[in-house]
Amino acid sequence: MQRLIPSLHLKAILALSFIALLIALFLPSRSVESTHAVLTLDLPADDTPTASDSNENAVNETPAPPRENWHMETVQEGDNLSLIFKRAGISATTLHHILEAAEGNDLKRLDPGQVIELGYDQNNRLIGIRLRRDVLTTIEILRTVDDRFESTVHTVEPTIKPIVKFATITKTHSSLYLAGQSIAMSDRLIMEMAALFQWDISFALDLREGDHFVVLYEGLYVDDSLIREGEILAAHFTNMGQPFDAFRYEDPSGKVGYFDHAGVSLRKAFIRDPVHFSYVSSSFNLNRMHPIHKRKMPHRGIDYAAARGTPVLAAGDGKVISATRNEASGKFIVLQHGEQYTTKYLHLSNFAKGIKRGASVKQGQTIGYVGSTGWATGPHLHYEFLVSGSHRNPRTVTLPDADPVARIYLDDFKRATEPLHAQLQVQLALIDTSLSGSNAQGSR
Ligand SMILES: [Zn+2]
Repeated sequence: MQRLIPSLHLKAILALSFIALLIALFLPSRSVESTHAVLTLDLPADDTPTASDSNENAVNETPAPPRENWHMETVQEGDNLSLIFKRAGISATTLHHILEAAEGNDLKRLDPGQVIELGYDQNNRLIGIRLRRDVLTTIEILRTVDDRFESTVHTVEPTIKPIVKFATITKTHSSLYLAGQSIAMSDRLIMEMAALFQWDISFALDLREGDHFVVLYEGLYVDDSLIREGEILAAHFTNMGQPFDAFRYEDPSGKVGYFDHAGVSLRKAFIRDPVHFSYVSSSFNLNRMHPIHKRKMPHRGIDYAAARGTPVLAAGDGKVISATRNEASGKFIVLQHGEQYTTKYLHLSNFAKGIKRGASVKQGQTIGYVGSTGWATGPHLHYEFLVSGSHRNPRTVTLPDADPVARIYLDDFKRATEPLHAQLQVQLALIDTSLSGSNAQGSR
């Protein structure tokens, strides 16, 4: 899921731009293209005495260029817009108008340290505020000719440039985390890379000195400074001499995944253990002697002891064929995965929302919660894995690969990933050179 965030973010930016456009289109403004243009019409002339006591209504025949004066307010702990305005001596009415104009652009969520700019004209009248929402987004609310306020969202489109980094597991950088840190990879990026290779490499147990990796990812830049890391485009990991490649590919139908050089999915169709934060309290054993009944009672699944309420995850994409209860199994779920595979989840305390017969589920989705309903002495998940109707040990059964790149897109896949593959090769050649030297930590 995490690897989707940057693209979601881009969508959010697009959505915001769209909203800004809508606001611009539908507000009865005289100035649609530029809110700044409104100012020049709006402001009373320089130091000209007016007949009226109220500057607000003063319109001069020969307006001088307005003087704007923007002043910064830093958001304090426990601050809100109302307090900030009070400090700046701005009326509650004005605040009310600004909040009205800002509808949809949440001004209520202010973070300490955030800067709000307040703009005044030469008569010290508030002409608007600017709030930098994040590196890419600024909300600007300006006074209009007819003395209302109008809000515009300014978004910056980041430039995306690829970044390549590599590192080697050494005595001092003995974990993926330390090696990643040594080349200034963010925690998120390290986690995402680990998630890519999790099906083939156990980073906790199988790392060795001399293992090395290359990662090629998107850098999002604004004005030449890196503001965020985007998607991993390609990665390579050599673990105990065995090489693994991963290429990100979005097929023309919009399906995104990570595949090896031949287009085979890196992901398996099933996750091994459908409950995190647990331990195996009883293994799969078809010849088990029952401790109480003193007779052969096969244990056709795995028991995972876990705290009551721990989420139980769908092991693979599939369909709910039952979500019900009986005396022995308590509340249980059966999932069908294609023609061959069935998984069962017993003794649940509850089903997750929307889990009922006929519902579709995605791999890793929470389908229920650990409990001790039915014949169970304590909270645990009893998990079964069936291939063509017969029970298999879920911890040792060979798991099928998730769907590969569709046949019709294979040519497109090759075209899209070939340049990435070439870049990985260049980096690997560099690592080879540096490994035959001494220490190989580097980035380019
Ligand atoms: Zn069991």
